[in-house]
Amino acid sequence: MRAELISVGTELLLGEIVDTNAAYLSQKLAEIGVDVYHRHTVGDNLSRLAEAVGLALSRSDVIILSGGLGPTEDDLTRQAIAEATGRVLLRSPQAVDRLREFFASRGRVPTDNNLRQADAPEGAVLLDNPVGTAPGILLEHDCRQIYALPGPPTELHRMFTDQVLPRLEETSDLQGQRLYCHSLLLADIGESNAAAILAELIHDQSDPSIALYASPAQVRVRLATKAADAQTAHHRLQVAAEDIRCLLGDHVFGTNEDTMESVIGQLLRQRHATLSVAESCTGGLIASRITDVPGSSDYFLGGTVAYANEIKQALLGVPGSVLDTYGAVSAECAQAMAEGARTSFGTDFAAATTGIAGPDGGTPEKPVGLVYIAVADETDTHVEQHNWPGTREQFKRRVSQIALNTLRKRILGTT
Ligand code: AMP
Ligand code: MG
Repeated sequence: MRAELISVGTELLLGEIVDTNAAYLSQKLAEIGVDVYHRHTVGDNLSRLAEAVGLALSRSDVIILSGGLGPTEDDLTRQAIAEATGRVLLRSPQAVDRLREFFASRGRVPTDNNLRQADAPEGAVLLDNPVGTAPGILLEHDCRQIYALPGPPTELHRMFTDQVLPRLEETSDLQGQRLYCHSLLLADIGESNAAAILAELIHDQSDPSIALYASPAQVRVRLATKAADAQTAHHRLQVAAEDIRCLLGDHVFGTNEDTMESVIGQLLRQRHATLSVAESCTGGLIASRITDVPGSSDYFLGGTVAYANEIKQALLGVPGSVLDTYGAVSAECAQAMAEGARTSFGTDFAAATTGIAGPDGGTPEKPVGLVYIAVADETDTHVEQHNWPGTREQFKRRVSQIALNTLRKRILGTT
């Protein structure tokens, strides 16, 4: 079964809002094995919208429109479906009653415009919207299913799950097959290097399919297979995942919905170990990420954002001689910060960062992007030097990821 998505709204074309509905629908359809070959974004314009619906009807089995079902003149999805299918719009008395009830429950009376939401092309079924005023539409036309769902994401999600998904599962030709996915998450390696290492595997293998997706400071390797049952799929995915782990080793830090901070949380918890941080250039981002994980108070005791030299000295015990001799952005300072945090917080592990985020403050010896990361534990302190030029936001994000990854490897004893 082939589906085509149409996102409706001039605000989408202007870039004022991001089209999260299309991403959501694509994901949900992929999960049940429905192929999405085309997606459109169309403004609030009747002829262009009807044209998109017509094109979709010519090549897809299922068309899902999102948005344009509101009460105003520029909400044209109903008319566009009517025009593309050569049908008239009819007002549903039941839908009018429901709208009146909805408004009455809020002490209001619907306007004529509000009642336009009870219109649908002849032959359509109105889909109940339990969380808003605009009902959805299902029209079966020439063996095609056209769905129109309201734009607000909470309404669209609810209606898709409750009303569209069961119908698609009933009518699809997948014979019980659906798509199963498994992701491996990589750190400390770029997309192209990972692709080069996996090149042969990717070339030789068609099922499960292997795809790489890069996002800031991590790469996702996504395995996907269509199967009739979870056990078969699980087996196939695990075999392929094992091959990839063999090739990428320690770069694999987690799977699926894991984050670096959640993985670190699990590792510390398993070992009954505690953590503190001393952050200069990351400005508290590492502590923030660590505390994004529920239950992090079990292992995270606290941190110091030590931006000024005086604070590095006063709160972390960094010796003045280290700052004078090597400067604040140095391996020696990172080491002293990590050791200072570990001692003052009394933790098993401590991680520290000090670097030059830019855009100013770089010198030929110490350019923008230079950063030192230190992780102290009871045996010694491991210090790394990296260079990550970029915007301040990218720099902080990358440094926090590398520092957390260094910490992860330190906890595992692999670095
Ligand atoms: P509409 O149904 O076109 O009146 O849209 C109502 C509201 O839903 C818009 O103002 C947006 O806030 C939201 N919305 C519409 N389409 C989308 C979309 N594709 N992705 C995310 N939000 C959307
Ligand atoms: Mg709109």
